[in-house]
Amino acid sequence: MNADVIVVGAGPAGMMLAGELRLGGARVTVLERLAQRSGESRGLGFTSRTMEVFDQRGLLSRFGDLTVSNQGHFGGLPVDFSILDGAPQAAKTVPQSQTETVLESWAAELGADIRRSHEVTGSTDEGDAVIVRARDGAGHDVELRAGWLVGCDGGHSMVRKSTGFDFPGSDATMEMYLADVRNLDLEPLMTGKILPCGMVMVGHLPGGITRLIVCERGTPPRARGADVEYGEVSAAWKRLTGEDISHGEPVWVSAFGDATRQATQYRKGRVFLGGDAAHVHLPAGGQGMNTSIQDSVNLGWKLAAVVRGDAPDTLLDTYHSERHEVGRRLLTNTRAQGLLFLSGAEMQPLRDVLRELIGYEAVARHLAAMVSGLDIRYDVDGGRHPLLGRRMPRLALAGAGAGAGPSSSSTEALRGGRGVLLDLTDNAALRQRANGWTDRVDVVTAAPASEPLADLCGTTAILLRPDGYVAWAAPGSWHDLPTALDRWFGPARARLW
Ligand SMILES: Cc1cc2nc3c(=O)[nH]c(=O)nc-3n(C[C@H](O)[C@H](O)[C@H](O)COP(=O)(O)OP(=O)(O)OC[C@H]3O[C@@H](n4cnc5c(N)ncnc54)[C@H](O)[C@@H]3O)c2cc1C
Repeated sequence: MNADVIVVGAGPAGMMLAGELRLGGARVTVLERLAQRSGESRGLGFTSRTMEVFDQRGLLSRFGDLTVSNQGHFGGLPVDFSILDGAPQAAKTVPQSQTETVLESWAAELGADIRRSHEVTGSTDEGDAVIVRARDGAGHDVELRAGWLVGCDGGHSMVRKSTGFDFPGSDATMEMYLADVRNLDLEPLMTGKILPCGMVMVGHLPGGITRLIVCERGTPPRARGADVEYGEVSAAWKRLTGEDISHGEPVWVSAFGDATRQATQYRKGRVFLGGDAAHVHLPAGGQGMNTSIQDSVNLGWKLAAVVRGDAPDTLLDTYHSERHEVGRRLLTNTRAQGLLFLSGAEMQPLRDVLRELIGYEAVARHLAAMVSGLDIRYDVDGGRHPLLGRRMPRLALAGAGAGAGPSSSSTEALRGGRGVLLDLTDNAALRQRANGWTDRVDVVTAAPASEPLADLCGTTAILLRPDGYVAWAAPGSWHDLPTALDRWFGPARARLW
């Protein structure tokens, strides 16, 4: 075998997955067709959930000073994330190229074998291994063998095609422009401005760059790969707003559409899809890259556990059952947002009604949780604890002890990418029941350092999966701790109680 896992694509999904797999001890090779990063920056910034995910791995400081905000939008209607308990602010101006660079250096430091100038041309699942064919920078055909293959190779995924995954949905119906431009002096319009014939957005990026999104209704999709000129963007801007921005100096200009598709399965045998390879949609509300990164955080620890021989292959099926549903909801919410801000005057009554509804706290919460990625609830076998299956909000800890070292919060306790049992009442009998899993799960004995969030009141113990979701909590879980440990981390090494 050349690797335990081959990941195709060194975008955000591929790099995050490579790092997670290495944390879990799997040997990973990443194949990327580009010789070097394109420098293009479609995605801008992180949702609240991605902020938490990066914090869990200690990655946030690598991005330097982040411009953060509680403000977002749903189809142009303002959404305030501060309404959500314990939600970190979203980061607004991190170019995707920087995110990719940070994740790539992290994965490389952890020992991922990243091979650029390797374009994957096909793959075969042989039942007990996967063969991946690629062409290297010198034009030579190479063949690699691995236990598992993950296609993180974007919306036109070769892995998806060569494995025969279904990818139903709709093609683009219109075309929009994205342009990063110097020498423009425009007011920011972060939630967009709906105009009689379309919609425009304006954001300010570091280095004096202005990001423009220009959507002129009725512009048909162009052929894939066709060049876009800044003149087309400034002409569309003029038609929509009446302003002349032709003096701007373009740094990067591209076009995108509203194609919406999702793979029906995220797993076929030894092959998985993640990120845009599994789902494409209108980039509304800044969610695509963030969801892609979280696909990888869901799959990485599970695949590493199976590679190590700790967990059974069936654990991998939860990647599809958990993340396909997240993707399905993403497609629904981006379609809804597209209708809201790309339609014409006929949509105004619905916008007005929704604006009224957002005034109700429950609605504002619902939409904020949806676009921030904080509303996800996985099926972890139930119980009545409010956090079961949900992401663990940061819980400050006092006197953290056994196992994970002096973690000062539940978030820090996840740095190693392992499971964490938080024993909040110094319960030796409980800790003993986890003895058979301490090779995979850190046991942290600590009390909450401050008043815990409402959902945590009265909680005595919490089992966290490596992706930061709550797998078991006491009191309130239907199953006992060993059953939950067995389900998510595989059988105990030795039963010592
Ligand atoms: C205009 C626009 C704005 C956006 N804004 C945001 C935003 O603000 N926030 C947000 O979260 N998302 C945003 N997105 C979406 C985001 O850019 C994508 O969801 C994200 O890039 C998906 O990451 P990925 O790693 O899955 O795929 P990609 O980023 O597409 O990476 C795939 C990688 O695979 C490589 N590859 C492809 N084929 C092969 C092959 N055969 N062999 C080897 N390598 C291959 C590619 O070169 C590439 O490096 C935006 C998208 C657009 C179009």
